[in-house]
Amino acid sequence: MRGAVYREPKQPLTIEEFHTPRPKVNEILIKTKACGVCHSDLHVMKGEIPFSSPCVNGHEITGEVVEHGPLTDDKIIQRFPIGSRVVGAFIMPCGTRSYCAKGHDDLCEDFFAYNRAKGTLYDGETRLFLRHDDSPVYMYSMGGMAEYCVTPAHGLAPLPESLPYTYGAMAHAAEIRPGDSIAVIGIGGVGSRCLQIARTFGASDLIAVDVQDDKLEKAKTLGATSWLEPRLSLKEPIAIKKFNC
Ligand SMILES: [Zn+2]
Repeated sequence: MRGAVYREPKQPLTIEEFHTPRPKVNEILIKTKACGVCHSDLHVMKGEIPFSSPCVNGHEITGEVVEHGPLTDDKIIQRFPIGSRVVGAFIMPCGTRSYCAKGHDDLCEDFFAYNRAKGTLYDGETRLFLRHDDSPVYMYSMGGMAEYCVTPAHGLAPLPESLPYTYGAMAHAAEIRPGDSIAVIGIGGVGSRCLQIARTFGASDLIAVDVQDDKLEKAKTLGATSWLEPRLSLKEPIAIKKFNC
């Protein structure tokens, strides 16, 4: 398979050939259908976050289940059968250790000790090896900027048939129609895209809400027609009137 490899800061990623990764117990091999570019990925690529290299970035994936690791739990196989559609998470909780057992899977010890600190999964090994010399390549989360990726099953959720692999939430969950009024709360990477997509779908009132002035300034360039700084000031009185807020 091919994957986009990061080797050193501020250099272009290189497209390289890999062996198809092999999942281990309670892991799933996914054929990647889409992968977002998160600012966390950019932090790694710019050298702003120290991370093992070479590595494959990408953690906002959707894809199709291709294979279960040997001895994977039957419940996992039933939840994610071969051919089913899945969406992956930034944090891939182990599901078993103390924080995960208490429901605080955002603090999963294994995720931070192995994936964030070493670029591996939870046996201390990567699943990515270059085809030409078998050398290891590390994984930022599941390493989603590749044609296939291996993910611990606890880091996945089923993707409903009603949602396509890309842009699903805006088109099919929010059901934005021409002339709609929408508010986007939080104008970061995801919120910026939501504004642009909503404008493309024909929404006429686009209200950006954020606590940072620079993000609101950026929102104007992305099509926001009104904006709110909820803590300090209300810069566009039309928004108040219309929404009585
Ligand atoms: Zn855990």
